[in-house]
Amino acid sequence: MHTTISQLLTSQRNFFLSQQTKSIEYRKGVLKKLYKEIVLREDAICEAIYADFKKPKFEVLLSETQIVLAELQLLMKKLDSWSRSQKIRSSLLNFPSSDWIYKEPFGNVLVIAPWNYPFMLAIMPFIGAIASGNTVVLKPSEKSPNTSKSIAQLIQTVFLPEHATVVLGGKSEAEHLLMQQWDYIFFTGSIQVGKIVHAHATKNLTPVTLELGGKNPCIIDKSAKLDLAAKRIVWGKFFNAGQTCVAPDYVLVHESIKAAFIMALIKWITKFYGEDIAISPDFARIINGDNHARLKEMLIGEEVLFGGTFDDSDNYLSPTLIDSPSFESKLMQDEIFGPILPIISFNTEEDIANCPMRYGKPLATYIFSTNHNFQKTILNRHSFGGGAINDAWIYLGNPRLPFGGIGTSGMGAYHGKRSFDTFTHLKPISKKGNWLDISLRYAPYTISNNLVKKLKHFF
Ligand code: NAD
Repeated sequence: MHTTISQLLTSQRNFFLSQQTKSIEYRKGVLKKLYKEIVLREDAICEAIYADFKKPKFEVLLSETQIVLAELQLLMKKLDSWSRSQKIRSSLLNFPSSDWIYKEPFGNVLVIAPWNYPFMLAIMPFIGAIASGNTVVLKPSEKSPNTSKSIAQLIQTVFLPEHATVVLGGKSEAEHLLMQQWDYIFFTGSIQVGKIVHAHATKNLTPVTLELGGKNPCIIDKSAKLDLAAKRIVWGKFFNAGQTCVAPDYVLVHESIKAAFIMALIKWITKFYGEDIAISPDFARIINGDNHARLKEMLIGEEVLFGGTFDDSDNYLSPTLIDSPSFESKLMQDEIFGPILPIISFNTEEDIANCPMRYGKPLATYIFSTNHNFQKTILNRHSFGGGAINDAWIYLGNPRLPFGGIGTSGMGAYHGKRSFDTFTHLKPISKKGNWLDISLRYAPYTISNNLVKKLKHFF
């Protein structure tokens, strides 16, 4: 396998050197073909994801295929203007010169994807890298084998393997891939594996984007529209059965409204999924037995306010509310990544500040409040990847907003223009005119030091 991967990369290197991917028309052509092929295969993609973890079709269309198609549309529409060299005002010091930023693809890109949005999180960075003129090797997750297989077939149908291809497999294939010399690595997954990827990249000084996880707080102030807040949190948390990197991990609610808030959560869980959630077609399953067991273990010794039922034969875990877990508990030590929502109360802003500070900087934070000062204080005081006010992860629905983490939740960002820029080296160029050559910079230096100190006004 080692040789095959290095042969594959050699063929992609040669293809990149052939200059074919530098053509904007060529890039648009393959993106258009990919768009058509996804539309044709949309039902099959939904079926593959359903086979992996019973993700409802509505959720697949909304959060996997349609979001990718929208991104493809945007990339195709904007490719001409984004890839054009950008004229920059030149410095008087260099007179006569014209300056611009030249958009250069990095070259050979590796994308490693997770299983939880198995189509979207593989294809979104992939199309960004292709639009920017790179070749790509994509490794989707081994934990969502049906989707990964359908992604491989899709890419094989649209792309020459020397331009873009899929390598299937798990840890060992990913490690073999990481041993190669890449021009850019884009990784989405856990913090633990993110560190391994970063260490590999460092060896070759390869630039990386790391899209990682963490514990995302949901802060509910006493001025919040309580019922609406509960409804939106239930949506954001239990979509994809809580297996969303930006899902609220835990709730911090003002003590005075905690009881009413819990009642509202229960009301909306029941409205969304019915009395017998196990038979709801709108609630996904846990990806595999290991994760199912990990989540069940998190419930041991906790005070279950609602839910907590499971079926091992189907990796089913019902939406579950937990009252005031200890910060030393398993539930509050690790990212939950499943349908369990701990509810913790606060009284003061210090109580709020102390809580997320226990963890690294979260990928997302959600503020539910109608008090402008409260919203502003949280935004100013806390550092996190991104978020929303009075809703859960809706900011992902705007391709004009960059998406990414900070600190332990990752580095770099993508989506829309930011995807194009992520996979593009911005190459600054000054083109000097030859008709005039002012001699002041050349030795022997004749201008006074006092005059040199005034040069800052001419930059
Ligand atoms: P993971 O880190 O276990 O796996 C991600 C990918 O890395 C997979 O393709 C896997 O095969 C590969 N991999 C596994 N071991 C490896 C190794 N030693 N070296 C190199 N590659 C290796 O993550 P997961 O379980 O697939 O996904 C869940 C995690 O991803 C959660 O922590 C979640 O928060 C995070 N996540 C983050 C985002 C984001 O956009 N920030 C999105 C989705 C998921």
